[in-house]
Amino acid sequence: MAAADTDRDPPSALCSEFLDFSAKDTASRWLAAADLQQEVYRHLAVYVPRILCQGLSGGSREEQREELGCQLLLLAPLEWFLLGEEPAAGLASLQERNQPSPLCGHVFKVGEPTYSCRECAADSTCVLCMKCFLESVHKDHRYRMTTSGGGGFCDCGDAEAWKEGPYCQKHTPTDGSRDSQKDPVTQLPPDIVARGYSIFYIILKYAVDLLTWEQEVQLPAGLEPPERGDTYYCMLFNDEVHTYEQVIYTLQKAVSCSHKEAVSFATTVDRDGRKSVRYGDFQFCEQAKSVIVRNTSRQSKPLRVEVMHSSVVAHQCFALKALSWLGQILQYSDGLRRILCQVGLQRVPEGEKPSLVDRLMLNDSKMWKGARNIYHQLLMNSLLMDLEYKKIFAIQFAKNYRRLQTDFMEDDHERVVSVTSLSVQLFTVPTVARILMVEENLMTTIIRTFVDHLRHRDLQGRFQFDRYTAQQAFKFGRVQSLIGDLKYILISPPSDWSHQLRLKFLEGFNAFLELLKCMQGMDPVVRQVGQHIEMEPEWEAAFTLQMKLTHIISMIQEWCSTDEHVLIEAYKKCLSTLSHCHSSLPDGEQPISLSLAGHCVDTFRYQVSQDKVSIHLPVCRLLAGLHVLLSRTEVASRFPEQLPLGELSPHLLIELPLRCLVLCAQVHAGMWRRNGFSLINQIYYYHNVKCRVEMFDKDVIMLQAGASMMDPNHFLMIVLSRFELFHIFSSADIRKRYREANKDLVQQNTLIEEMLHLIIMVAGERYVTGVGQVEPFDEVRREIIHQLSIRPMAHSELVKALPENGNKETGLERVIDSVASFKKPGVTGRGLYELRSEWNKCFNLYFHHYSRADQSKAEEAQRKLRRQNAEDTALPPPLPPPLCPLFGSLVNLLQCDVLLAVEGAVLQWAVEPSGGGWTESMLQRVLHLVGMALLEEQQQLENSSGDDDVTFNYTCKITRPGEAPGTSGSVLALLESLQNAPHLEVHKDMISWILKMVRNIKTIRERTSSISTITINHGRMLEETVRDKDKAERKKKAEMARLRREKIMAQMSEMQKHFINENKELFQQSMEELEASTSAAEHSPPNSEFTCTSQVCVGPRRVGGAERRQLVTCILCQEEQEVRGHGRAMVLAAFVQRSTVLSKNRRRNLPDPDHHDSLFMHPDLSLGIHTASCGHIMHATCWQRYFEAVQLKEQRRQQRLRGHTSYDVENGEFLCPLCECLSNTVIPLLPHKATPDHSIDHPSLEVWLKMTSQQIAAVNSSHRTQSDGTAEGAEPAGPEGFRVNHTPRNLFSSSISEMMTTFSMSAYKVGLKVNPNEQDQRVPVLSWSTCAYTIQSIERLLMDEGKPLFGSLPCRQDDCLSSLTRFSSACWTSAPLKTVHAHFIRLFAVLVPNLQVEDTPCILDIDMFHLLVYSVLSYSSLHSLDQSGQSFVDSAHVHILHLVTLAHLVQILLTSITEEVCMDQDSGGSEEEELTCQLYSTLRKHLGSVLPEVSSGWQLWNCVKAGILPFLRAAALFFHYLNSSVPPADLLAAGPAQWEALCSYLSLPSNLLLLHHSQVSQLEPLMHRWCCHPGVRQMLQGGGVMVRFPRESNRLIDLPEDYSVLINQASSFTCPRSGGDKSRAPTLCLVCGAMLCSQSYCCQTEVDGDDVGACTAHTFTCGAGVGLFLRVRESQVLFVAGKTKGCFYPPPYLDDYGETDQGLKRGNPLHLCLERYRKIERLWRQHGIAEVIGHAQEANQTLVAIDWQHL
Ligand SMILES: [Zn+2]
Ligand SMILES: [Zn+2]
Ligand SMILES: [Zn+2]
Ligand SMILES: [Zn+2]
Ligand SMILES: [Zn+2]
Ligand SMILES: [Zn+2]
Ligand SMILES: [Zn+2]
Repeated sequence: MAAADTDRDPPSALCSEFLDFSAKDTASRWLAAADLQQEVYRHLAVYVPRILCQGLSGGSREEQREELGCQLLLLAPLEWFLLGEEPAAGLASLQERNQPSPLCGHVFKVGEPTYSCRECAADSTCVLCMKCFLESVHKDHRYRMTTSGGGGFCDCGDAEAWKEGPYCQKHTPTDGSRDSQKDPVTQLPPDIVARGYSIFYIILKYAVDLLTWEQEVQLPAGLEPPERGDTYYCMLFNDEVHTYEQVIYTLQKAVSCSHKEAVSFATTVDRDGRKSVRYGDFQFCEQAKSVIVRNTSRQSKPLRVEVMHSSVVAHQCFALKALSWLGQILQYSDGLRRILCQVGLQRVPEGEKPSLVDRLMLNDSKMWKGARNIYHQLLMNSLLMDLEYKKIFAIQFAKNYRRLQTDFMEDDHERVVSVTSLSVQLFTVPTVARILMVEENLMTTIIRTFVDHLRHRDLQGRFQFDRYTAQQAFKFGRVQSLIGDLKYILISPPSDWSHQLRLKFLEGFNAFLELLKCMQGMDPVVRQVGQHIEMEPEWEAAFTLQMKLTHIISMIQEWCSTDEHVLIEAYKKCLSTLSHCHSSLPDGEQPISLSLAGHCVDTFRYQVSQDKVSIHLPVCRLLAGLHVLLSRTEVASRFPEQLPLGELSPHLLIELPLRCLVLCAQVHAGMWRRNGFSLINQIYYYHNVKCRVEMFDKDVIMLQAGASMMDPNHFLMIVLSRFELFHIFSSADIRKRYREANKDLVQQNTLIEEMLHLIIMVAGERYVTGVGQVEPFDEVRREIIHQLSIRPMAHSELVKALPENGNKETGLERVIDSVASFKKPGVTGRGLYELRSEWNKCFNLYFHHYSRADQSKAEEAQRKLRRQNAEDTALPPPLPPPLCPLFGSLVNLLQCDVLLAVEGAVLQWAVEPSGGGWTESMLQRVLHLVGMALLEEQQQLENSSGDDDVTFNYTCKITRPGEAPGTSGSVLALLESLQNAPHLEVHKDMISWILKMVRNIKTIRERTSSISTITINHGRMLEETVRDKDKAERKKKAEMARLRREKIMAQMSEMQKHFINENKELFQQSMEELEASTSAAEHSPPNSEFTCTSQVCVGPRRVGGAERRQLVTCILCQEEQEVRGHGRAMVLAAFVQRSTVLSKNRRRNLPDPDHHDSLFMHPDLSLGIHTASCGHIMHATCWQRYFEAVQLKEQRRQQRLRGHTSYDVENGEFLCPLCECLSNTVIPLLPHKATPDHSIDHPSLEVWLKMTSQQIAAVNSSHRTQSDGTAEGAEPAGPEGFRVNHTPRNLFSSSISEMMTTFSMSAYKVGLKVNPNEQDQRVPVLSWSTCAYTIQSIERLLMDEGKPLFGSLPCRQDDCLSSLTRFSSACWTSAPLKTVHAHFIRLFAVLVPNLQVEDTPCILDIDMFHLLVYSVLSYSSLHSLDQSGQSFVDSAHVHILHLVTLAHLVQILLTSITEEVCMDQDSGGSEEEELTCQLYSTLRKHLGSVLPEVSSGWQLWNCVKAGILPFLRAAALFFHYLNSSVPPADLLAAGPAQWEALCSYLSLPSNLLLLHHSQVSQLEPLMHRWCCHPGVRQMLQGGGVMVRFPRESNRLIDLPEDYSVLINQASSFTCPRSGGDKSRAPTLCLVCGAMLCSQSYCCQTEVDGDDVGACTAHTFTCGAGVGLFLRVRESQVLFVAGKTKGCFYPPPYLDDYGETDQGLKRGNPLHLCLERYRKIERLWRQHGIAEVIGHAQEANQTLVAIDWQHL
């Protein structure tokens, strides 16, 4: 009872009732009561309205109070009553007796990961929760991972769901467990049983009564409250019609609440299905109701609102709590669970009313979402967890099925919240499904319900979806869930059939045929001639139906295949349905008689191009499927007498499928152009992998079945006639056909090609078990071989190309390794499968699943391959598998007279080509057919023992003179004459192959006729004779020459490609890998003269770079130009952005742009300005002209279309004209610094400090004089030659000055997010700042990647840093001198404290590198006043460097020495260590005990050395670029001796402590004053975030190896704003690890006046406008920059096939690919995100249209 006495003041009278109330006494009163229900109701009537729903719920405290009240006053008595003792003890003893359900039953939350084993799951709906999965055997199997859509539970422990390993370790039944057959109720004490029955019944009935209660004011009898106040609720209900915005707007008006409250109401309504939005008297609520109704009734039916009495609401509220309570109690005891099951399902005795559970189900669609969810949950916890009652419940569910489905159709809620969605839990259990099928005739019920709901029919009773409305489309969508249910009950075919099952299945089959009959012939089309169709007809609905039914049709066939009796009966039924369909065909078709090549056939006149034709022929196709089964199961040969084979009319069987195939051919030939796209789409889906199994494939099979039952000549004549080609091959002079008038020759040629292709397929497609003698394995393997013959493919591409079965399996994995080798992916791209060469021989150019494009790609690839292997390029047909007996006579097609005549005709045309009446494709197909025939003959010969059983004598027939009228010779003779035809070069190899085959067969025939026992090796034909070898050699040489030529040509054309493209590649290369490039040396080649160790970059001894002339070329005008201070300005395209990449404090608020003092950078580097460049140089004038053109173009574009481009012209953004790199400014190029005059004496530190102080004093006083306007007082005398009023001469031409202002303004504008203002004093500071920050970030990158400090940067970065630094050193010239002086004075005051300067921060609050850069760069302004003619600038730089270094040393000693460091002790010590100790003790002297005591000099020195290294490296980079000095050799390579080289390069002693030690007298006072700054002590005593040195580099957050861990994390993430609601798009910030509720209304915030989503809002605080996220549900990386720009990026998670799964559609297990993650990290650390977005948007314009800001 701890909750009671915490921070709550006693709220009301309730509190005293808490104290007086005794649950135990109440329970005993109930025990004694005569009428228990009356007594309980009386209690509830009193207390429920007093505890619950006392006004609009006001926050969590109110909720806690209600919760507590419920528990103590309402639920506790129930528990006491049930258990008869103290509830905690009672429940514990119940739990001891409990036998937990073997089922896990974990109910899935939305977005939670679920696992299914692809090897062991009975079907794809069987899933495990993550806990069970990890403890199961399946984690080592092939599994699939998906995210749950909510609802549904874990199937662990259900023996029927798993072929193997049904239990995880946790749910494995123990040996001691009870017999599961035993009634668990008998295990309970009898008194508990009795009380359980009565109290469960009362509570469940109470809940059911109230949840189904439809009155707003009255309550059920016995529950009327003792006193009844005028307190009402205005209750708003959810619907799927009104949008969030509408609801929010309406609520604000109706109940005058804030926008925020309205959003919260709307979210709750959406989540729970209802929410009270107003509390008060009746009038008050009624008024709100009328406003809401009025406001929402305009466009549609109004929102549902009801004014309900508070007591009704309170009881409904408690009813839900009571149901949840029941669910919890059940967890303690299987006996109680069984009792609740019985109570729920027993029919109410009085008058056999429906059971309580029935009442709930039947009222489901009337309840609000929240209520449904709670009772569904209870059903899952009770009925579905009890194996016995699950069946009883399933039967009840099936009995109500039709009614429930009808309710669902009327309801507008999603299916997950409908009770109908429980079907998956019931129907997928095979034993339950069988019971329901047999006892409740469920299969028939489902199909009939489905047919009833599809009411759109035409006159013939077929479905007609034409012109159906959105409302109907919505219903159609709902109806489809019935197909899902049908699939569930059919998912596993029975292993043994009972008589009843046969009967019911066949009854269902009949119903199914009725359904198919309504589809047979739907959406018929007629060829449009003359004009284009006016309106595209609706076709999608019909195809959706077909697609949904595809698996069902396949499953029904599979069921039929498991029982001979069922198969025979189904076949008969299907056949009679088909005849029925045929009888309704129009009779207008006149009989005609055709004759060709001496054969005659009767058929009727029908033209696809003129009459109606339909693509939908499901009855025919089902029959085709069953026909194959007759062959596969050998039923046809074993029970021929039972089959109506005699009744079959092959002519009728082939008619409709043939029409459909001819339709496709005519569409390909362009004859149906005027029928528009809908027909094209239908033809596409007809062949598409989603439909083809039960469409195109079955049509081919039906033709094969028909052809095998007919005279092949007759079959072919009918085919010719349907193709409308008969007259061409039958006319007297076939050579004259092209002269025929009014015929489009191209069309006709295509038709002939298509017809030949069809014959190839009918005679050759044998990879269906039952048609050919193959196994399903062979079928899949052949598909894969042909896919891989096109090109190597990724796993997912292959999966997409293969049809899936009902369990979403393709069989791919079983086969793939036998035919292909896997190539792993690199850091980009994906893993690919490549066909192994030994399988090339199986390639069939006319593979029936190739589209025309596939075919030509495959042909090209195969020919190329053969050329590479120096083989001939013939692509002969592969050896076909033998046919099954039922289809055996198909082979005769290949040698029948009509085909020979067709072949002869085509060959004849080829011999005498003229006009256009002939194509090579035609010839190619004929050659293929000839090849097939020859292979057939050869095989028969090889397999036969003697000549007698060889029926195939094609070689003999083709030597006979032509059969077709008008041909000049035999087929063979024609082939021979074609062999040398010059125009048929491509087909030469194929013709040679054929002729060789013919010779070979002749040899075999001769040999078998003499010695019949010799077996002929098939490979012999391929053996090459010596002559062949010679030929091959020559060919090989020619081939090599050709390849060389091709390569040269390819190179040439590559060179001709656009210049820009070429450079783009170069650029991308350098972008991809920083490491690969080495170019620093390009500008400053390491000269041996300079690489001596004495090389320094700072101070009087340095050597400058002015002697080196800088010649650059403008990328726009290609002119060369020397960089000079007074020359034409040259600029570098650059991109300036804010950055938090180095930030050590992401919680720091962004500075207020207007008042931020930017002169001192805090050491946490929380916000910096980064500059990058692609390194491309232009004339300033050329660039300006280019940018103006871009602006103009953008203006015109905006007038035309709206929306964004990938770059924001208004903000100065443009794409580099050469590489299209995103840029927003330019950096002017300045000349190198000259070498200082070595002849002058340079002042010592002491002299310089004194001189500088004097100068500062002079400047200060002059400033004061100017501002006061008075000239009084003696000016402090500056040093000799120092002129305060001197105006330095301008060092730069006006064009360069102008560009300097341009860049300064960009840095200012971007850095502070303000409008440009040249007068602002901070302008030069921001230029220095971006220089310092960019150098720092590059130093970090080089360090972390282990690269040498110099020489490893890519050219573009080198150029960027060099020009940026030189620009920064000169930018003071474009600012007022006074401003820069003021900056210098303030900066200098940090080092040399000056009482006149206010607001100097303490040294712990300053980043020393920034201080160094700013001081050095601003010093020049002071020095420019020195007219003494002696340049001390370089000495000043050294002194500043030394001072700052010392200050940093102190900073490190103060901040980075921790207790751990002090722990270790060691003895001895070098000079460094001793001096460090000395310095440290001096500091302790100043600061006392706030510094820990350290005795180890070694530790201290190490700490200092590590801490200061980044600073020294950055300083070396800075001075290197500033002074153009050559780097020492030691720093050009990573390795030892870095420290010494670095110190020497910087003119520092390698023992840094000497800096201090050698000038103690000068420095001691400074140090004393640093330490005395009040800020130091305050910080050390814990006042603020202390930054320690070296600052650790920021990395992206660590990601788990297994992706499902992330999904699991995200599934428990709730939206932070809408009170515990699950977030729809949980998104992880990769920078800081925050989880966000993205892409959702609830979490939008306002940033700078725009509503933005959680991600965009987060980027402004976390990444200064740039963000990297992982969208967890989508498995997608999201990059965002600003508000309008973003792109998706491949996630760093790959499956075992080396592929990402963006959208998590495939469900293969995903694992972290560290290399890819590092690549993303590198992109981020290099500040490359904005650029990647720019390139992605430029490449893919649709990205521009995405509303990134709402993510
Ligand atoms: Zn589980
Ligand atoms: Zn389990
Ligand atoms: Zn498994
Ligand atoms: Zn130019
Ligand atoms: Zn560029
Ligand atoms: Zn949210
Ligand atoms: Zn973040």
